[in-house]
Amino acid sequence: MPPSILRNIPSVNELLDSQPLKRLSDSVSRRVVVSGVRSFLETLRQEAQTTANEVVVPVGAELAERIASWIMTSEQAPLRPVINATGILLHTGLGRAPLAPDALSNINELAEGYCSLEVDLESGKRSHRHEAVEKLLRDLTGAEASFIANNNAGATLLTLAALAGEREVIVSRGELVEIGGSYRLPNVMEASGARLREIGTTNKTRLDDYEKALSAETGALLKVHTSNYAIVGFTEEVSMKDLAPLAHRNQLPVIHDIGSGALVDYSRFGLVGEPVVTDSIQEGADVVLFSGDKLLGGPQCGIIVGRRAYVEQIRKHPLARAFRVGKLTLAALAATLRHYRDPEVAEQRVPLLSLLSTSVENLKLRAERLAPQLAAATVIESAESQQDVTYLGGGSVPGQQIPTWCVALQPATGSIDQLAHQLRTGTPAIFGRLQQDHLLLDLRSVFPSQDEQIVETVCRLEQNEPMDEVQT
Ligand SMILES: *Cc1c(COP(=O)(O)O)cnc(C)c1O
Repeated sequence: MPPSILRNIPSVNELLDSQPLKRLSDSVSRRVVVSGVRSFLETLRQEAQTTANEVVVPVGAELAERIASWIMTSEQAPLRPVINATGILLHTGLGRAPLAPDALSNINELAEGYCSLEVDLESGKRSHRHEAVEKLLRDLTGAEASFIANNNAGATLLTLAALAGEREVIVSRGELVEIGGSYRLPNVMEASGARLREIGTTNKTRLDDYEKALSAETGALLKVHTSNYAIVGFTEEVSMKDLAPLAHRNQLPVIHDIGSGALVDYSRFGLVGEPVVTDSIQEGADVVLFSGDKLLGGPQCGIIVGRRAYVEQIRKHPLARAFRVGKLTLAALAATLRHYRDPEVAEQRVPLLSLLSTSVENLKLRAERLAPQLAAATVIESAESQQDVTYLGGGSVPGQQIPTWCVALQPATGSIDQLAHQLRTGTPAIFGRLQQDHLLLDLRSVFPSQDEQIVETVCRLEQNEPMDEVQT
């Protein structure tokens, strides 16, 4: 850009005196606006120096308006509510499971002031924070004791360190999972200090593979649910029922990482093959590990349940303190677990389960009602209801399709990507799913109360212009 254009930019003080920025100073803060104006101008200068193309600088009032809206955008917190219209119920990027209203009110009630996190009110003595959920977990899973870690990755690392640090842990080659790039079982094991002893092959592992690997070096046997993939065809794996007696004959613990952590049988929701915690305990697992924010539909945490002696060993390990959860998590978890004492109550009150159990007819009706309302928006060329399938996500129940209904959108102008961007950056943000030449709004993961918000938000949007000049 020729320097003359830079000279046309008004001074910071002139800009601050303009109407839009004055108004913003009053509503936000002068300090924030001053630094916003400076960094906007700085970006503009850098852009002028680095881009070969001509940079069009808006003039006068338009520039001030532009800066004001830029500052307002950057004032929005990065962590904001999103309407999840991707159809993926356990979207890790969108925070996995939404919390039950009772979980929220329990957080509110317990976090607003002080709470009995580690005191026994009866005796006045110091107690343990795991008691907040211990009885519930005992009743729901049949396990003797529990510990709550920050997530299942933490639960796994802590359990391996406490029960098998410096020793070998036997795992089938068919179960060395990766859950999202940052969780790879072999790496977690290495970090725990335990040594991985792989056995069997990718598709077949037999009981005598475990047996032959046993030695004085063995610290534990580990079985992992392959929650985000399935090995099909010529396969064989050892069930917990067969594995547990082998471990116990050799005075070793068998650990079961079941991933999602179903407290009830999910085949009632059409999801088959998810291990249920109670079954694993009954079949002889000594320690069972699972996430709190996957199928359970609670807060992010890693739940460890099992035999008292092993759980005690886990609680006493130095890492336990580093991995333990705070009162907010325990408040949400306790409230969520209470719903599971009656599976029907859980289905009504745990949002994940209500979404999962919504009938296809219900979704169809909503999609058919939404389509014409969305088609009326300026930014929408066409909106049509259509049947589709979606997935649970979050590394749970691989390949199992969940029937759903969507509204397929086409933008009036610009590309599908531009429309998706507009929806993502709107208030509230709306995340859809791209499919060939449509943007799908999948109702499987949308709460009925959000339907109207979607219509309002989309109707408020203005038509996309072909890409803007200054990308600040
Ligand atoms: C999801 C998953 C994990 C990781 O759990 P986070 O709670 O995300 O840390 C570990 N193991 C299995 C089998 C899983 O499915």
